[in-house]
Amino acid sequence: MSTTTGKINVQTENIFPIIKKFLYSDNEIFLRELVSNAVDATKKLKALASMGEVKGDLGDTKIEVVVDKAAKTITIKDKGIGMTADEIEKYIAQIAFSGAEEFVNKYKDKVDKNVVIGHFGLGFYSAFMVAKRVEIFSLSHKEGAKAVRWECDGSPEYNIEDTTKTQRGTDIVLHIADDCEEFLDDHKIEGLLTKYCKFLPVEIKFGTKKDRIKPELKEGEKEEDVKDIEIEVDNIINNPAPAWTKKPSDLKEEDYKSFYHELYPMQFEEPLFNIHLNVDYPFNLTGILYFPKLSNKLEMPKDRIQLYSNQVFVTDNVENIVPDFLTLLRGVIDSPDIPLNVSRSYLQADGNVKKISSHITKKVADKLEEIFKKDRAEFEKKWDDIKIFVQYGMISDEKFYEKAVKFALLKTTENKYHTFEEFENLVKPIQTDKNNKLVYLYATNILEQHAYIDAAKSRGYEVLLMETMLDPHYINQLESKLKDISFVRVDADTVDKLIKKDENTVSKITEEQQKQLQPIIEGTVSKEQFNVTFENLSEKDAPMIITRPEFMRRMKDMNQLGGGSMGFYGNMPDMYNLIVNSNHPLITKILDEKDAAKQTNLAKQATDLALLSQGLLKGESLTNFIKRSVELI
Ligand code: ADP
Repeated sequence: MSTTTGKINVQTENIFPIIKKFLYSDNEIFLRELVSNAVDATKKLKALASMGEVKGDLGDTKIEVVVDKAAKTITIKDKGIGMTADEIEKYIAQIAFSGAEEFVNKYKDKVDKNVVIGHFGLGFYSAFMVAKRVEIFSLSHKEGAKAVRWECDGSPEYNIEDTTKTQRGTDIVLHIADDCEEFLDDHKIEGLLTKYCKFLPVEIKFGTKKDRIKPELKEGEKEEDVKDIEIEVDNIINNPAPAWTKKPSDLKEEDYKSFYHELYPMQFEEPLFNIHLNVDYPFNLTGILYFPKLSNKLEMPKDRIQLYSNQVFVTDNVENIVPDFLTLLRGVIDSPDIPLNVSRSYLQADGNVKKISSHITKKVADKLEEIFKKDRAEFEKKWDDIKIFVQYGMISDEKFYEKAVKFALLKTTENKYHTFEEFENLVKPIQTDKNNKLVYLYATNILEQHAYIDAAKSRGYEVLLMETMLDPHYINQLESKLKDISFVRVDADTVDKLIKKDENTVSKITEEQQKQLQPIIEGTVSKEQFNVTFENLSEKDAPMIITRPEFMRRMKDMNQLGGGSMGFYGNMPDMYNLIVNSNHPLITKILDEKDAAKQTNLAKQATDLALLSQGLLKGESLTNFIKRSVELI
């Protein structure tokens, strides 16, 4: 056959610049698309061989990717089924180009490039995003097939002619465009292969052609016709059989761990545990999820779950595919049933994606319950690390909440762990208030709230530790879910009032005397921030106590978490109660002091002690307190 010129049947003239512009920052996907095609061609050949339709030994079927800096080409070479001239005309010239045209019509008006998550469907044509000219050299596996060379510069016109390729399969030769020469860098290409092709199911060799050896040309042959390239450096860049494609029964704990490090080479911590996903009905889904050990509890992990489609990397942004709280996990999800060329918002509404998402949620809950039941001690050991996932899930996902109430743990300031049910039974006898409501006391900081925790413990109360950034939301959630239970921070009131019971102690000082003392004590603090009241506490309690009303404190906390959206509460100064224990001897002493200056001094000293135990005494006030203390001693 002599050279023939063909014209591609597309309506849009020159779709190439549109695609190139549209996918400008994503042009690297060309490599994924072309290597995926090579993989498909190789798999098809193997399938034909297994059906007896291709006879004899298939020989080496490795795919090769070769960068030739001198010639400014990248070659993707497979030893798959190959294509005849007719097939190239049909599959490449007609189908691939019309696919590209369809792509353009669908997406050219979309301003937001991120609407397309996978770009799957652009396929072969994506070669033109980086190449000014593309050649295909192909020899079909079919008996008696003739090798063929096809060439095109992205315009709807192409050439097709006979060539001398002797090895079965297809070489795609990209003549890299002048503005894309960064792709001739071997590190760049190796990086892209690692990103997109790391787990493709056919072995991929990567090499560079450092010295371009001039081929010996036969009569009438052009240099470009000889394309059976030998790679000098050969280096298999992929693992064709990654752990998630195997049966869970064939894998040991070690295999899961080593796969974790294969996925995240920069992670040195071992994962806490893994969940192997393996569904084939009603949708297809495989994968392995890991609960990572977070080094910094306040920071969300950055290495994200990777999404694959038949072992081809698609994205590491699984938002809207996996429930929000599970995006904190690591690992791999592989599902050809997730539609890849649609917008993210559309994904969320997709029936399959919904099913996949709730399946994953269920599997994660089941796994946690399984570990909890099988090995409680181990589960408790890991609780501090997994708590954030579980809480996030319980707050954001009703179904997960229902499962998690069985294994979610509450941790006390004494480092004891209880399930919801256990804790309720434990505190019911003494933490029920006069209205028959259970009061769960909690602390957010053991050191700062030490005096209050101590006071609560001396009453026989249990104090929970709620110290993470999610805890304020979690507390709200639990209060709305658990019947007749409220949470109160240990410093929200005096210990006698934290859990209100019908016990009335009598005051040692009269109402008249309280009125007399009130202005003196008020004079020691800022009126805007402190509300002074008297209470009949025990002699053993402190003379003065500062508390932060639960409601106001929560509003401020939530406001801080929400980035200051609740302007009103955010702008309020911190409000405190200064409670004077009218039964404490020191209060009587202040009252009885006849020397006005000494009286003020005593009152100040007592107030400062209360401030000190809340960590509120700072700067000049602290210096004055120390001076005054020395004088008093
Ligand atoms: P898709 O892969 O989505 O079908 P492409 O545009 O990537 O779309 O490819 C179009 C067709 O060209 C493929 O379906 C296949 O039949 C053929 N093809 C592409 N690359 C190769 C290859 N390396 N070997 C054999 N056939 C190929």
